[in-house]
Amino acid sequence: MTKRLSRNMVAAHLREIGIDFVLVPARRSAEAANLPAREGEENLEDILNEVVACRRCPLCSGRTNVVFGVGNPRARLMFVGEGPGAEEDRQGEPFVGAAGRLLTKWIERIGIVRQDVYIANIVKCRPPGNRAPLPEEAAACLPYLRRQIRAIRPEIICTLGGVALNHLLGNNDRITRARGNWRDLDGIPVLPTYHPAYILRNATREHEVVADFDLLAQRLRSG
Ligand code: URA
Ligand code: SF4
Repeated sequence: MTKRLSRNMVAAHLREIGIDFVLVPARRSAEAANLPAREGEENLEDILNEVVACRRCPLCSGRTNVVFGVGNPRARLMFVGEGPGAEEDRQGEPFVGAAGRLLTKWIERIGIVRQDVYIANIVKCRPPGNRAPLPEEAAACLPYLRRQIRAIRPEIICTLGGVALNHLLGNNDRITRARGNWRDLDGIPVLPTYHPAYILRNATREHEVVADFDLLAQRLRSG
């Protein structure tokens, strides 16, 4: 008979051999993942089909690809960024440029593979010259993100940077003060942290993001 190792035993063993990250079960059990959609609940594909044809705001005219979102449709942890950059626009996937590589590193550091979280942005089309989305563009696109959140039902959300924080939670909070402090979005705990592009320019603040990711991991382990 195969002995099933508990997560704690695996973690203890990994620590013993020098691997010091925490192991977090990022995927819901197969059983939970296969639950049929609740009555009236959309799946991500329904939303995607609308977004690829969307012309609700002027950003549609500049896009090469819509950047809908990527990851596990039953993720426990969801990240929300600002909007696609040049590389994301080219590939149609969020966070695939330099900032994305840093985000992936932070995710892996807490023992999760990138494929097991879900990553999306406030706006799905690239703002010209990487400017922040205008309030009316964010407002036009936000209903899609809200529907994605309802379909995925993540246990926790992490917003990346001030733009994602302000638009998703509808506040004017400064990211330097808000980061590391749990917020609430319709019952879902939300943790704001810095945007990886900001950390690329301000590397001395990375330890704050590392602390924030530890909070995410703690919450997932206790949930
Ligand atoms: N920055 C973002 O906010 N989102 C991306 O998808 C890429 C970079
Ligand atoms: Fe539609 Fe959003 Fe793209 Fe604007 S940014 S066109 S609202 S998908």
